[in-house]
Formats: sequence, structure tokens, C-alpha cells
Amino acid sequence: MSVLGFLEIDVRPSKANYGAFKSCHPCFFRRTHPALVSVGGIHPLVSSYVELVAKRFIRIPDFEVVPDPNEEGAAAVPEPSRPRYELREELVHCYTELKTLYYASALHEQVYVLMRQALTKALVACPFEIPVLTYAAAGAAMSIAHGNKDGVWIIEQKIEGHFYKYINNNSLRPNSKLKAAYYRIAVFLCFCQHMQYIFTEKRCIITDYQGTMKILTDAQISTREEDAEHFSRGNITSLLNEFPTTHICNEWCDFFGIGEQNKTPAQITYSLRGGGREAVCDPDYGLYLQKKIDQLI
Ligand SMILES: [Zn+2]
Repeated sequence: MSVLGFLEIDVRPSKANYGAFKSCHPCFFRRTHPALVSVGGIHPLVSSYVELVAKRFIRIPDFEVVPDPNEEGAAAVPEPSRPRYELREELVHCYTELKTLYYASALHEQVYVLMRQALTKALVACPFEIPVLTYAAAGAAMSIAHGNKDGVWIIEQKIEGHFYKYINNNSLRPNSKLKAAYYRIAVFLCFCQHMQYIFTEKRCIITDYQGTMKILTDAQISTREEDAEHFSRGNITSLLNEFPTTHICNEWCDFFGIGEQNKTPAQITYSLRGGGREAVCDPDYGLYLQKKIDQLI
């Protein structure tokens, strides 16, 4: 095995943030050798960033009630030190977490691919400014102490800027506490959920959308009950069942032809372009929109 570089994790409690499930520590990657092959998970590679954060799971016994991270105050556990899992268990948690992040990253990016296809096919420009958000680069690392494996870490690109909870884990609605600029992003992310619901054939959507205005992190995947074992404990399977009656379509759903604005998918009153199974833009939608705006003026 060749050495690519060294990962330095600052484990001092005073430098860490303690959440309900994980602690988060500053971390630097010092590359000492050029990589012969790409390492660091899927693109963007976490090894291409110098400033990183290292996250490690806090052990929550099975009998303990899992804290709801959406509850006020749940994100800040005051104790500076919490118990960790055994190495084997830690590996399983880490694997599940990374799988969730990679799935979320792929599901989210696929929305942009399908939007672009629909726009190109109809030869139209999107009348709304498209928020461009990507999931943070992530990978895993195992620390070695005195020659023994000692702890599994999730390594993520450091995210700069204010952090926003766009859609809560147990919700399909934009976070109403957000200010207008961020609320608009949350509305777009609700549309992304609708797209995911369609192109996965009702199998899964991203929940717990959160991050800055550019970089997202800490995703959850909501799946059907039979697929729940593959993802982390934040997977709320009932959301998929509730989707047709709880998701409220917005201007994005309407423009891309997958829903009717201000109605749930179960309330739609006209047949959708593409039969509601794919995003299809209407070349005349711009005129329709302009008429609507003129009427408002
Ligand atoms: Zn919708």
C-alpha cells in the first residue's frame, strides 16, 4: 500500500462540536505523494480538499430513545465526551452513513440532469434562477494508534458559511422559519423531492435537506419499508406513503410539468405533460407565465 499523505484530526474536546449522533472535529489532509489512482470516494474526491472535518459516531444504546435532531436544542449535546461504538459496529455505521451520502448526492444531481434534458428538449430557458447545490465531498478514514485500528471517521470537505435547515427530516414542506432567499431554495428542494419520487418510481427521496447556499450535507434517505435496512436510522418510511397527499407542488413542479402549483399530487385537476412520469417543459409556458405576471401588475 502506498502512502498518499497524512490526515490530522484535532480531537481536543474544546475544538469539537457535539451533535446528537456524531461529534465533528477539525481535520487537515497533508498530501505527501501524488496519487497514482483517484482515492476518496466518489467525485468530488474528499482527498482533493485540504481543509476537512472529521465526524465520528457517538454510541447510542439500543434501549435509549434516539434524539430527534429537529427538536430545539437537540443539536447541541453539552457533554464534551461521549462513548463510541466498538470498531466493528463503527464500521457498519460509517458504511451506512456514506452509502446514504452517496445515494443522496446521486439522487440530487440526477434532478439537474433531468431538468436540463427537459429544458433542452423544449428549447426553453428556465424562468427562475436555478439554485446550484451539491453534496459535500465525503470519504472514510481509519485511525491507527500504536499499530492498532482505532476509530473510524467520516471525512467531509469543510463547509464555509451559514448553515440552514431547508426541509426537516420528518417533513415534506419547506422550513417556514427561513427568510425569503433561503425559503426559495427550500421550495426548489421540495421540487427536487418530487422529481426524485417520480424518477425512482416512488422508491426513495432525499429528506433532511440542509447545508449552506451551495453545499449540502447530513442527508437522510426516505425509502419504502422493505428497503429501510439499507439506510441510516433517520430513514422515515412513512414519508413516501404520505407524499401524494402531503407534498404541495410549487412553481417548479408546475413549470417542469410534474404537478399543479399549490395542489398535492393527489389533487391534480388536469392531465400532466409527460403523464406525470417525467419532467416535460411547455415551450409556451413563458407566455402563460408572463400573462399571469401582467395580470398581477
Ligand atoms: Zn410537486
